[in-house]
Amino acid sequence: MGRMQNILGLCLFMLFLAGCQGTPHLVKRSQMLMGTVVFVTAVGADEMIAQGAVQAGLDEIRRLEELLSTWIPTSELSQVNAAAGREPIQVSPETFEVLTRSLEVAKLTHGGFNIALGPAVNAWNVSGEGQVPSQEDLEALRPQMELSDMQLDENARSVWLRRPGMSIDVGGIGKGYAADLAARVMQRSGAIAGVVALSGDIKTFGRMPDSQRFVFGIQHPRKRQGEILGRIELEDEAVSTAGDYQRYFMQDGVRFHHILDPKTLHPARGCQSVTVIAKEGVMADGLDTGVFVMGPDKGMALIEALPDVEGVIVDQEGAVVVSSGLKSRFSPEP
Ligand code: AMP
Ligand code: MG
Repeated sequence: MGRMQNILGLCLFMLFLAGCQGTPHLVKRSQMLMGTVVFVTAVGADEMIAQGAVQAGLDEIRRLEELLSTWIPTSELSQVNAAAGREPIQVSPETFEVLTRSLEVAKLTHGGFNIALGPAVNAWNVSGEGQVPSQEDLEALRPQMELSDMQLDENARSVWLRRPGMSIDVGGIGKGYAADLAARVMQRSGAIAGVVALSGDIKTFGRMPDSQRFVFGIQHPRKRQGEILGRIELEDEAVSTAGDYQRYFMQDGVRFHHILDPKTLHPARGCQSVTVIAKEGVMADGLDTGVFVMGPDKGMALIEALPDVEGVIVDQEGAVVVSSGLKSRFSPEP
């Protein structure tokens, strides 16, 4: 099986970094967290504040990873999954919030976004070697992937997966959520501006030291890493890109990627990439995955209908559609 994988999935590039060199109160650092390289940048009144803010941001992401990662057997989500079909598990406010927000995105995307797809995600193993499961095997998993079988109890702050074999996977929303919380602690520790980038899930607050907005490039889904489709400017916003080029394997000339359509349980086929801009990272990240599943027409209609949400969709043929509110601040690459 031919296999190509872009492990880092760095689909957005921080073009602003070059312009920030040499400014005294800007600190940037990167670290491996949540299975990807995390870049954190803080602007502070002095260097100590900026350093402290960067550290606080990275610490916050590590804390969330320990709650949400299904690669960590002791994480809260791993405990929830291990108790599937048995009992409710009480979780932290943060884990509870990711699950609540996931239900919100599931509703908005008419079920395109579904964190209960864990068993199918595992069956495809796109993050590992990658394999095409039989339709029979996939259909057998269907009863374990009903989102309505995930029961959230707000008073007890507990989660109960009612069916044995269920498995929650927040890979499609957790990085955006982590970017929001990291940005919040950075602001609390005194940063006046900053960027938190977990792979293609980015949250910004404030402006660069020279008062310019932060500028990002959107990766072209069919060109080499670093070759961009266009640039956008952000201020107090988040941006996320979901793409069929980020994690995939090839078999018999067909690209099998990591975003699954809950209807077919196969990779969603309507788009090459979806970029969503929203106030919150949790929305941008959840929606990029859900809109990708909905496909270019219904997906763009949803983006247009939601307040404070903009987007860029590259459809299966490579046609680029930019939402009406973004046109004035999206500069396509010639
Ligand atoms: P993203 O890069 O934000 O699109 O997230 C992709 C990840 O979300 C995958 O690697 C899976 O872990 C998970 N995922 C795949 N399909 C779906 C889906 N339809 N709904 C929610 N999460 C999904
Ligand atoms: Mg996503």
